[in-house]
Amino acid sequence: MTEARSVVIVGSGPAGLTAAIYTARAQLAPLVIEGEPSSTSDQPGGQLMLTTEVENFPGFVDGVMGPELMQNFRSQAARFGTEYVTAKVSRVDLSSRPFRLWVGDPEASEPTYTAEALIVATGAKSLMLNLPNEARLLGYGVSTCATCDGFFFRGHEIAVVGGGDSALEEALFLTRFADKVTLIHRRSELRASKVMQQRAFDNPKIEFLWNAEVIDVYGESKVSGIRVRDTQSSQESDLSVTGLFVAIGHQPNTGLFAGQLDLDESGYLVTQQGTTHTGVPGVFACGDVQDHRYRQAITAAGSGCQAAIDAERWLESEAAGH
Ligand code: NAP
Repeated sequence: MTEARSVVIVGSGPAGLTAAIYTARAQLAPLVIEGEPSSTSDQPGGQLMLTTEVENFPGFVDGVMGPELMQNFRSQAARFGTEYVTAKVSRVDLSSRPFRLWVGDPEASEPTYTAEALIVATGAKSLMLNLPNEARLLGYGVSTCATCDGFFFRGHEIAVVGGGDSALEEALFLTRFADKVTLIHRRSELRASKVMQQRAFDNPKIEFLWNAEVIDVYGESKVSGIRVRDTQSSQESDLSVTGLFVAIGHQPNTGLFAGQLDLDESGYLVTQQGTTHTGVPGVFACGDVQDHRYRQAITAAGSGCQAAIDAERWLESEAAGH
């Protein structure tokens, strides 16, 4: 049977849960469809579930672990009456109001939920290298999450791929466990912020392999090595590592909305300048799914707040017949 809701929020990262805190406190009884556990996290909650220490979220003088921060968001939203469904939305129909959402069988004749207002906070996911054996060894030495897996690499030699802030953050965190971390970057210059670069250069456990790309990862039941190609000489060599952490960026989770909401050339949702309104009245977008510039927990949370306020005002004006 279809359940009619006022506000449905899809996604449970900092954006979705901040939208939940604000809409719950505005008495809109939000439903958060929070997603499902994945191969990289045993709980929904977005990318912070895959993050280690967060040092730049205001209010935490000594930093906080990503999963702990998300648990706090979740409990705070629950305190004001937010309801959660641990599932993925399989289909949406935004062609008329109320909007229709399916969980489970996308071909079911009746939607699972209807929503007067919809807040999209589906975030972005980790990009992978698409190596021949990468998917097979994901969770067996290939990882996108140092927090989840770093512990298993005590005393090991491991590699991290990427040259951005994520790669350096992962590499630095992993030096707590590993004896040696080789950071493999396809160019000779890092993209990461200068402060992160300096920290990595100063860390004696981190070695840099420049102008190099990983072309395969080996191992029967777990990773035992990787094959690397020099991008300038094309020479190939093997590196004996037991872990390969892939930290090369993200892709927005917008597949559900293709053809119904405007997407930019990289697949991010388009919102109206300075607001969270999408092109469909009553549908709002916040967080990384619509932000390829800042992509920070705090900016995601900030835009989640904006989406809640935009949705609240929009519902009020609709109710008033404007
Ligand atoms: P990013 O900045 O887009 O960096 C991705 C890195 O991966 C780049 O160095 C890129 O190389 C490399 N790369 C991409 N595709 C590759 C491939 N197929 N093979 C090999 N290498 C590949 O992504 P990010 O590091 O995830 O960071 C995303 C955003 O979040 C950034 O704005 C970042 O500043 C921010 N962030 C901030 C913090 C923090 O402040 N604590 C932490 C994490 C992330 P090229 O450089 O050659 O393009």
